[in-house]
Amino acid sequence: MQDRDILVHACCGPCSTSSIERMLSEGWKPTLFFSNSNIFPESEADLRYEALLTVATTYNLPIIREAWDHEPWLEAVSGLEQEKEGGLRCEACFAYNLAQASAKAEELGFSHFCTTLTVSRFKNSKTIFRVGEAFPLFEQLDFKKKGGFDRSLVLSKELGLYRQHYCGCEFSI
Ligand code: SF4
Repeated sequence: MQDRDILVHACCGPCSTSSIERMLSEGWKPTLFFSNSNIFPESEADLRYEALLTVATTYNLPIIREAWDHEPWLEAVSGLEQEKEGGLRCEACFAYNLAQASAKAEELGFSHFCTTLTVSRFKNSKTIFRVGEAFPLFEQLDFKKKGGFDRSLVLSKELGLYRQHYCGCEFSI
């Protein structure tokens, strides 16, 4: 593993497009990691993974998929089901997915990991970074910056990627 190798928690194909483009331009060597047990139902997770696979193929990047396992995620957000989007349930959700990515990064010998969640206009990067402080290998890459969100729309359209209409869990449908 080299110093610029980075494990990228990738929430979906569209958010990964401009994030990857930026990382490559900054000299990072991304490996994509799809571990999103928050997504419901499983068929939706499959659709998002397929879109990510298109992105991985386009940029010729390695990709790792973790098995979908929704029950432990539900336990992690238990009691927070009625929270509004962007509230405490989402913080617990970020923590859950970042913990998965952190563990995988350590297991595989990466020195860095990050998340494409920061590209979305609907997610507060400062909150994600605060949650990420619990994980020593976490890199605070804010993919919203430098027009990242708008660029993701352009690239997603070019690649014909599936775009979801809700964040992910059953409470956001
Ligand atoms: S709305 Fe999105 S970020 Fe919030 S808990 Fe659901 S899947 Fe996670």
